[in-house]
Amino acid sequence: MNQTSDVLAHDAKPADVFADGPRSAAPRLVSLKGVGKTFPNGVTALSDLNLEVRKGETLTLLGPSGCGKSTALRLIAGLTEPSAGAIDWANASARSNIGFVFQEPTLLPWATVFDNVYLPLRLAGHSRAEARGQIMEALSRVGLADFAKALPRELSGGMKMRCAIARAFITRPALVLMDEPFAALDEVTRFKLNDGLVALKAHLGATIVFVTHSIFESAFLSTRILVMSRAQGALVDEMEIDPAIARDDAFRLSETFSKITRRASHALHAAMGERS
Ligand code: ADP
Repeated sequence: MNQTSDVLAHDAKPADVFADGPRSAAPRLVSLKGVGKTFPNGVTALSDLNLEVRKGETLTLLGPSGCGKSTALRLIAGLTEPSAGAIDWANASARSNIGFVFQEPTLLPWATVFDNVYLPLRLAGHSRAEARGQIMEALSRVGLADFAKALPRELSGGMKMRCAIARAFITRPALVLMDEPFAALDEVTRFKLNDGLVALKAHLGATIVFVTHSIFESAFLSTRILVMSRAQGALVDEMEIDPAIARDDAFRLSETFSKITRRASHALHAAMGERS
């Protein structure tokens, strides 16, 4: 975390701006310890990544394209194995209870919105009738209650993503991994989906690891931001943001928000300059 310390020196100390009171004492859900990933083609996406995901947080991995954010997420998901280091889960049940949201909503085209959200519950053995209330509640949190019977082709890009988010949260997973879910959406839709995600999380209380290269999105959603550099995922800054702050429109206009975005922007620029 040394590279950006000079750049950040003029900013207020993290504790002044970002966290009120002691640093999060929430229990650890999963840790990455000295994790490296080299692909068969010889590309090393990550080397010696150390991070901890704590229960209840929205942790954002913010970094330039190609810095290894998605690889880190795929490693946590167990979709790929580390070439070095270890991924350590606090308990086995958390590991087997993960939701995913990717950039593409990947809905079943022939199934209604309701049935797409029902799918993980169906796979877990729940009947449609017993799942109905829970599904309609989730759809209403993401603003899709009136579209339960619609097919994906009848939805806008933002609505498809709302459906994918409801589906990811429906089983109340211990951890939801989100890989640039809003990158393909326009700014206004993106803001709305950020609001929807905050509402859903407040209702269901999941832990989220969110990957983005958007400074504004990370500042709005996160209770902690880790800024990664191009240098194989080295961490160049960490910001903890008071979880008690309401994530609403007033927050987007607040001095705190602009302090967060300024600091994240400094860190990102420092991270991107490392190659030159
Ligand atoms: P980010 O999510 O930050 O954009 P990625 O984790 O997708 O970064 O990629 C990090 C690096 O690893 C990039 O150089 C990318 O080209 C490479 N990479 C990612 N996946 C693979 C793969 N399956 N095989 C080979 N190289 C890969």
